[in-house]
Amino acid sequence: MNEWIVSASGIRGIVGECFLPHDIARMAAAFGTFVQNSHRHQREDIRVAIARDTRASGAMARHAVIAGLMSTGCHVVDLGICPTPTLLLMASELNVAGSMMITASHNPAEWNGMEMATTCGTFLTETERAEVLRIYETGEMQFQPWNTQGNLSKSDRAIPIHMERILASSYIDPEGIRQRRLRVVVDAVNGAGSTITPKLLRALGCDVVELHCEPNGAFRRPPEPTPKNLEALCDRVKQSRADLGMAHDADADRLTLVTEEGEAISEEYTFALIADLVLNKQAGPVVATVSTSLMIDDVAKKHNTPVSRTKVGVNHVVNEMLRLEAVLGGEGTGGVIFPEIHHTSDGITSAAVAVQLLIESGETLSSLVSQFPKYFIAKKSLPIPPSVEGDEIIRRAIAAFNHERLDLTDGVKILRDASWVTIRKSGTEPVIRVFGEARSSHRANRFCEEIAQQIQHWMAASNGGRL
Ligand code: MG
Repeated sequence: MNEWIVSASGIRGIVGECFLPHDIARMAAAFGTFVQNSHRHQREDIRVAIARDTRASGAMARHAVIAGLMSTGCHVVDLGICPTPTLLLMASELNVAGSMMITASHNPAEWNGMEMATTCGTFLTETERAEVLRIYETGEMQFQPWNTQGNLSKSDRAIPIHMERILASSYIDPEGIRQRRLRVVVDAVNGAGSTITPKLLRALGCDVVELHCEPNGAFRRPPEPTPKNLEALCDRVKQSRADLGMAHDADADRLTLVTEEGEAISEEYTFALIADLVLNKQAGPVVATVSTSLMIDDVAKKHNTPVSRTKVGVNHVVNEMLRLEAVLGGEGTGGVIFPEIHHTSDGITSAAVAVQLLIESGETLSSLVSQFPKYFIAKKSLPIPPSVEGDEIIRRAIAAFNHERLDLTDGVKILRDASWVTIRKSGTEPVIRVFGEARSSHRANRFCEEIAQQIQHWMAASNGGRL
């Protein structure tokens, strides 16, 4: 697999280096074989839905994916450019046997990838993903002869159906929202959410100001919707005197909010704010990852409901949600999962629910945020030198911090009073992520820095003193 990164939901690579057409077609054929094997007893044709985000390499990858899938006898339903949550929603709608999304999510423009999901539109489990990779690596793709190749069809129903589902959900009151005519600035990074989010908000009567909403893949800012990348959005919110700003990543499963004062709030708030609204309407457990802010615990406590924590990655959150019949799940990255719509992170539903939040509370976003207990998160990404094993660093951390309170659900989480630091190998990039949270920025930074320095030291030592 060399330089490809295996993520929780699929694989990613740098275009022109390791994300190459023959590898993409081969991976699609491995997935096609996996899907065929899983539906061996099905008599009808096996269909796989595909879609892509707007990346420049998307058109190339789309052709390779279609070729790979068709060569194993899968009939491909191409949904064109649409968000990951829209594709996964359509999986159950179209009753397909699998789905493949061509995206590298929040990674920079030079990356692309493939995310794979099974019948009902949930990402592959670790075991299923390992099976696809095994087929890829051993070359056990079952290529079909000339007369049983798959065919290709297109569907343009994805965006209207996703919108219909959101508008009909119990999370929002479309009539109530329409009466208020909020002004919202949408920054979709010219990605897959460029069409659907402005359209949905207009259907809710909002006055939408579009920023980076041309689905052309020209990322005018880094695709990760973190506050430091949202300067242009903050300015536009102020200039247009909007009530709210919102930003997606390239495949629109995430959402970050900007207050009416033009301040981008941490992406951690998206889940916490939405949870406060949803738990007002529905009682039941919520699921978060080990790296998600303690804000979710405060919100859950207010509603007298438990929080279950899982490994980082949508599929882990989803599995736990299904097990607990949770009413909401999410991650600190701005991804929120609404089980009434489907079981995957959905930045589009989040956009509608964020508007509902303002209407229902009758407050501004800055005022809502000020009512939350203040936490500060420090995040560091430490590149792993090529000769260093990320897993070895994790093992060293477990041994070194053994005397502290540890949670080993995912990597290492070191817990001290009202603060924590997690040390994890990223699922999507060759980096060790060190996240810390505390009640003051000084404490969060100091704790994170202390641990990061130790890790840098180990990595330098394992790499002959160089980083
Ligand atoms: Mg994403």
